[in-house]
Formats: sequence, C-alpha cells, structure tokens
Amino acid sequence: MWGAGVFNLNSICMRRGSEERGFRAKSDAHQLRDRFDCRRLLTLVLHVSFRAKETEELAMSIFYQTVQLQIEEIGWEHLVWANGDLTIMSFKILDKSGRFHILEIVLDKNYPKRPPAISSDVPHLFSLKWYPNSRLKDVVEQFIKHVEELQDFWSVMENIDKSLLVVGPEQPSRSVSFRHINIGNDCVLVVNVNADDPKSMPESRFIGSESHVSSLKKLWRSNARLWSEHKSFVENLAKVLEIQLQGPPDVDMDHRQLECGICYAQYLPTDTELGTSSGSGTDYTCDNKNCRKAFHSVCLVDWLRSITTTRQSFNVLFGACPYCSDPVAVKINNAN
Ligand SMILES: [Zn+2]
Ligand SMILES: [Zn+2]
Repeated sequence: MWGAGVFNLNSICMRRGSEERGFRAKSDAHQLRDRFDCRRLLTLVLHVSFRAKETEELAMSIFYQTVQLQIEEIGWEHLVWANGDLTIMSFKILDKSGRFHILEIVLDKNYPKRPPAISSDVPHLFSLKWYPNSRLKDVVEQFIKHVEELQDFWSVMENIDKSLLVVGPEQPSRSVSFRHINIGNDCVLVVNVNADDPKSMPESRFIGSESHVSSLKKLWRSNARLWSEHKSFVENLAKVLEIQLQGPPDVDMDHRQLECGICYAQYLPTDTELGTSSGSGTDYTCDNKNCRKAFHSVCLVDWLRSITTTRQSFNVLFGACPYCSDPVAVKINNAN
C-alpha cells in the first residue's frame, strides 16, 4: 500500500516536472501551486498508508474479538492453552467414559473465511465441516462426536491392555491401534485393531518359531468364524487361538507412568508462578489399581476446578480421575 502510494506520487510529480519544462513561461505563482499540490499529494498518501495500517490493526482486533467470543461459547474452562495472538489453542474434552482428550486448533489469519486446522491424539481425524457461519464451537462439537464414535475402539484397546500380557508399544498413546501381545511359547501376536470397526477380527501377525507360528496361523484362519462382536476382545482371542492367555504382570506401574496425564510432561516447567511446584515431577497417582495414572497435583487441581461436579471441603478438592473416573482427592495447598 505504502509502496504503491509512493510510486503514484513520484509519477504524478514527474509528469508535473515535464509540464513545467514544456511551459517555461509559466508564472512563479503557477509553480508554487504545483509544489503545493505535490505536498498535498504526499499528505494524502501518508494518510492513506496510515489508514491501511489502521485497517490492518482493526482487522486484527476484530479477529481477536471474534476468537475470544467463540472461546467463550465453548467455555474458558475447556481452554488449556493459547498463544498470544490466539492463532493456536488447545481445548480439553472429557468423553462419556471419562477419558480426557486434547484438541489443538490452529487458526489462519483469514479465519473464519478459512477453516481451522485441527489435531488430536486419535487414530484418525474427521473431515471438518466448515460453513461461512461456522464457529469454534462447531469444531469442538464435531470433535466430541468423533470421540464418541471412537469409544468402542478405546474400550477394546483398554480390554487388551488390562487383560493381556502386552509387550509393546510402551505407553501407547490414544492414536495407536496396534499391540504386541505375548501369547506364550515365545510367541508374540501383533494385532492391529480397526478403529472404525473395533469389534471385528483384527489384522494379525505372529512372531515366533516357525512351527508355532504356522499352527497359530492355521487356528486363526479356521476359527475366524468364532470371532463374535458380542464378546470381548480377550474372550475372542482365547477362543480363536484355543489357548489360555496370560494377564499383565502385577507390577507397580508408578515407575512406568511418570508422565502427567493432563499436561503430558514428566516435569512442570520452571516458572516462578508455580512456586514450589516449579520444575517438579508428578506427585499424585490415581488409587485405582487398573489406572494408576500419574499427575502433577497442580494440573489435577486445575482440571478438577474446571469440572462442575467437583466438590471442595476445606482445602481438598473431591472429583473424578480424568482417566478412569474413580474418585480422587487432592489438596489445594500442596498444589500451590
Ligand atoms: Zn501436569
Ligand atoms: Zn484413574
């Protein structure tokens, strides 16, 4: 804008200069008036460029206000993090089974004309439906719907993790759909659960001695018809492979799950605002034997405060674990 303005001013003044050379007889008064016109033009250009900057600032403030209002529609309590210019933000969502999800939204400066980009720890994302009057609330609603559709998938994965001897991957995230299961006789079964049809027989691969693997493959094929959508994954597996499957080792999982289930970090950032908690590791573990999820009490306090069903008695917050929904109680003083 500024560049274009300068160019126009120069060309107009140059044209005026050549006119002057052509009409030397012009009076001083005329020349004065021409110079005056150039100055007026310069003022005009400066004004226009100033207005352009103003317009840009105005557009930015409209963007800012729009996004703020749209976050408010979702509820500030769901916002986990946002950058300074509100172009990147994360929301936390609790699904019907009490699982906790983080949805990251990235906004283009042309938002809402351009749809936001989304990412989350899910096996696959949905294609966002975006209309001229769509808002952030619609993104979150579509995400919640998607997460609800994945409930069966996560239930199957949890059934595997809780009941079988899973040897990999270590601490799988919610997006991971495969598991390495030790099925005895030095054999490992790798299953890949179809996130869209999690109750169906999964894709499989056997690792082990050739003789064992070939007999297992035979059973897998011949007993495929026994796989029932009405039975649990573990029941189906035992039936198809005609074996007694081993359960998970009864180990203290504290050492395996040091990452905070809310902020996903092992250590809190070093920040004076966090006081004594600054830089500290996870200091709270869910009492549920099957969950044992670790948290920073600071994160758990923040999380519990955002849930309407949380109750407070003196300096203790009583609520539900974000992972297993079992009751949790955390001291506010300890956390701050
Ligand atoms: Zn944390
Ligand atoms: Zn728990």
